[in-house]
Amino acid sequence: MTFALHGIPVSKGIAIGKAVLISRAALEVSHYLVEPGKEDAEAQKLLDAFDQVRLELEQLRQGLPKDAPQEMAAFLDVHGMILADPALAEKPIKLIRTQRLNAAWALTTELNDLLEQFAEIEDPYLKERANDIRQVAERVIKALNAQKKDVLNDSEFLPATDIGVESIIVAHDIAPHDMLRFKEHAFTGFVTDLGGKTSHTAIVARSMEIPAVVGVRHASEMIRHGDWLILDGEQGLVVVSPDEQLLAEYRKLQSQAAKEARKLQQLKHAKTETLDRVDIELLANIELPEDAIQAVKLGAVGVGLFRSEFLFMDRKQALPDEEQQYQEYRRVVDLMHGLPVNIRTIDVGADKALGAGGTDVSQTGTSPLGLRAIRWSLTEPEIFLTQLRAILRASAHGQARIMIPMLAHAKEIDETFRLIEKAKQQLHQRGQAFNPNIQVGAMIEIPAAALVLPLFISRFDFLSIGTNDLIQYTLAIDRADHAVAHLYDPLHPAILNLIANIIEQAKRANIPVAVCGEMAGDPSLTKLLLAMGLTDFSMHFSQLLLVKREILKANVGMLRARFPRVLKAYEPEAQAKALERLLA
Ligand code: PEP
Ligand code: MG
Repeated sequence: MTFALHGIPVSKGIAIGKAVLISRAALEVSHYLVEPGKEDAEAQKLLDAFDQVRLELEQLRQGLPKDAPQEMAAFLDVHGMILADPALAEKPIKLIRTQRLNAAWALTTELNDLLEQFAEIEDPYLKERANDIRQVAERVIKALNAQKKDVLNDSEFLPATDIGVESIIVAHDIAPHDMLRFKEHAFTGFVTDLGGKTSHTAIVARSMEIPAVVGVRHASEMIRHGDWLILDGEQGLVVVSPDEQLLAEYRKLQSQAAKEARKLQQLKHAKTETLDRVDIELLANIELPEDAIQAVKLGAVGVGLFRSEFLFMDRKQALPDEEQQYQEYRRVVDLMHGLPVNIRTIDVGADKALGAGGTDVSQTGTSPLGLRAIRWSLTEPEIFLTQLRAILRASAHGQARIMIPMLAHAKEIDETFRLIEKAKQQLHQRGQAFNPNIQVGAMIEIPAAALVLPLFISRFDFLSIGTNDLIQYTLAIDRADHAVAHLYDPLHPAILNLIANIIEQAKRANIPVAVCGEMAGDPSLTKLLLAMGLTDFSMHFSQLLLVKREILKANVGMLRARFPRVLKAYEPEAQAKALERLLA
């Protein structure tokens, strides 16, 4: 039966493919299709893992000291009984044989089903058993992982080619870093139950240029593995089991979009200036060093935001040391051939959790109002100093610059500069090269910073407005929470006034100012930002040509003349009229 689900469109484009359901637990384990003919061997692996856990439990039981609490033995008995129940292995084995899921994936699929059933049980004693089942299954997964050398091998994510058709990931939620792990694989779309328009998961999906719809509430429950899906990343629509006619219509739209994209490529070499000859700088936002290759190809004149924290978010690895970081930063600097590269210091917390090597930020992240970005770095001075030294060393090879996220207080600025000086001294003592005059910039993304801008203007070399957070904190809504996603509004008069004011003050003080939040990459907002006097736009490279097309059609003089009316319009109707006139 065909049905449609609605969510928040976060990455445009149309994807057509078969659903690949990724359970939350499955994101923690490898999941891939076993080669045809190897199903029995895979099933045997699962049975072996069960045997091994059975043995472990028996050994634990026998090794219990005489004075061990009775509950301990009872607990092991319950786990032994769960393990002995043939039903627990039955379904996963069927999934291995019929759908060729690898053993861990098959087991986590069954585990999720069981946990859902238990969630509906009223009896508190029986409900509690859900935890026992989870623990037993986790032991089996551990045993399965131990059978392999590389537990979480990225290449084991299911490549679309393995199943012969294009595939679309459907998940309850995907962490930003997990999203990046999909980069290597040919998935053609993403659907998640949770998420907001500027959540970092959405930003990564956009950066991968893969259509995505988030906040589709019950998608992972209503869509079944293998269902055909149409995903419309423009409308936020997911059509499940579409009929042939609908498929044909969307295929046509897909090929029209491909034609448009080809046409857009012609703008690659055009000078970025408005009709009235105002030069505009288009910079790139990147998450991984290799993104710089595309950025340069598409004409970016620098990296306006390198989200360095993505180097720190790998669950499998320890945090990168100074040498590893230096190599990564240097790579970007080299790829940019002398163009500026703003390396934003680590911004973990909120929806971005630190990887396995981290200590303080949990795997699930923290509140957006919590220990995030520079606040976290200042509580971990050794990690911060390591990063600063790595950036400084990269500055010996090109225009690496330091950019600090989420500052609000003068004392945070003082402490940041004290540590930058310390990092310089340390390198000096070691005799290692760096640019002693490295530029240091601040992100303006907390309303408090915007309201005391002269403080930032006097202390920093450049400013960059992080509109994603500025909107989040000004409107008091969690940008990753789909429940308040409808209140995330870049056109709120408070936001327009705030941004316009920052740009105006910075221009008057002659300090470079850019916008590096998602607003800069939204072509429907390009003229509005030009009207505010913005000349430096930093966005993901996939948006560069779309924004350029708007710039080439704009007349800044006219936009600026019409802009004051937009700023003064507080009523929605008046604002709509003023905007219509501005963009006409
Ligand atoms: C922002 O807040 O606008 C920004 C660019 O930083 P991030 O999205 O990484 O928080
Ligand atoms: Mg931010």
